[in-house]
Amino acid sequence: MSWEKNVRKVVPYVAGEQPQNKNVIKLNTNECPYPPAPEVECVLHGFDYNILRKYPDPDVSELVAVLAKRHGLSKDQVFVGVGSDDVLAMAFLTFFHSDKPILFPDITYSFYDVWADLYRISYEYQSLDENFRISKSDYYKENGGIVIANPNAPTGVCEEPSFFEDIIKANPDSVVIVDEAYVDFGGKSCVSLINKYENLLVVQTFSKSRALAGLRIGYAMGSKKLIKYLNDVKFSFNSYTMNTVTIKAGIASVQNEEYFNRVTAKIMETRENTKKRLSKLDFVFLDSKTNFIFATHKRVPAQEIFDVLRQNEIYVRHWNKPRIENYLRISIGTDDEMKTVLDFLEQYLKDK
Ligand SMILES: *Cc1c(COP(=O)(O)O)cnc(C)c1O
Repeated sequence: MSWEKNVRKVVPYVAGEQPQNKNVIKLNTNECPYPPAPEVECVLHGFDYNILRKYPDPDVSELVAVLAKRHGLSKDQVFVGVGSDDVLAMAFLTFFHSDKPILFPDITYSFYDVWADLYRISYEYQSLDENFRISKSDYYKENGGIVIANPNAPTGVCEEPSFFEDIIKANPDSVVIVDEAYVDFGGKSCVSLINKYENLLVVQTFSKSRALAGLRIGYAMGSKKLIKYLNDVKFSFNSYTMNTVTIKAGIASVQNEEYFNRVTAKIMETRENTKKRLSKLDFVFLDSKTNFIFATHKRVPAQEIFDVLRQNEIYVRHWNKPRIENYLRISIGTDDEMKTVLDFLEQYLKDK
């Protein structure tokens, strides 16, 4: 038993279910309902497996270059990792190294407190207001760092870059991380502030808007200094985080901007149509700028709707957490999938 007291004990993050049954309508982890860019398939099909003898490029320089170009940054302002979870975990380890608590909303991506606990970083939740909005002034106090998802998850609420500019300006002694996992669905990115503020790190992912959750690509953008510090930590940890297949496929995805725009526009259109029907069914929700809707029903408890959907092979997400236990997070699927779900809800709710 004595060795056990020296174990680093953690309470792990619980990801959304990945049911193996192919028949389910899966609206529980915000994946893209459409395939990745066709160029990705070409890369995978024509892949010269002999390349796999060699280690991958540790600097991931080709993928960094296409991302830098797309965002109007230089190559030394971009860092790539194995999903934004990997990038964020690395950023917590690198930038949140102070005795003061880091700050993030009480309702947000539930991995933030898990990483903080893992690395023994102290933290303080800042309560969202009664409309699930962030109060800027909560972030105008001493802290060891700030991390905010924008749009926020699971609420879907989005703030303007000027809102973050105020927070960044008020915190010259901290790194401010803006997690933009959902920004491609109608939000405005804080990338525009990067050349103005050395302490801003913006994180994005290929998992939602690029339909590549299975490939695992995320990236951070920031000042040269921040990116250098991130790379120093990465190269002290594992030089080859990204594999060769993923790097090539990721580059192919970024190169088809037209397809990317088409898919994200389609998802936004489906989202707006879904909102209209949900309203008619007496759901109430926030103005989502993401590929999901965070909704509560006027009469029927979220747990009940969650259970009945699940029994009918429709998976959405529900948390038994204070303030949000009566909400469901419904990812946006194809028009057909949404029609099936909404028709089902219409039937189920009609006598309630
Ligand atoms: C999905 C998500 C991530 C992680 O995405 P990866 O698949 O690891 O790139 C990070 N932050 C938020 C808010 C997310 O919703």
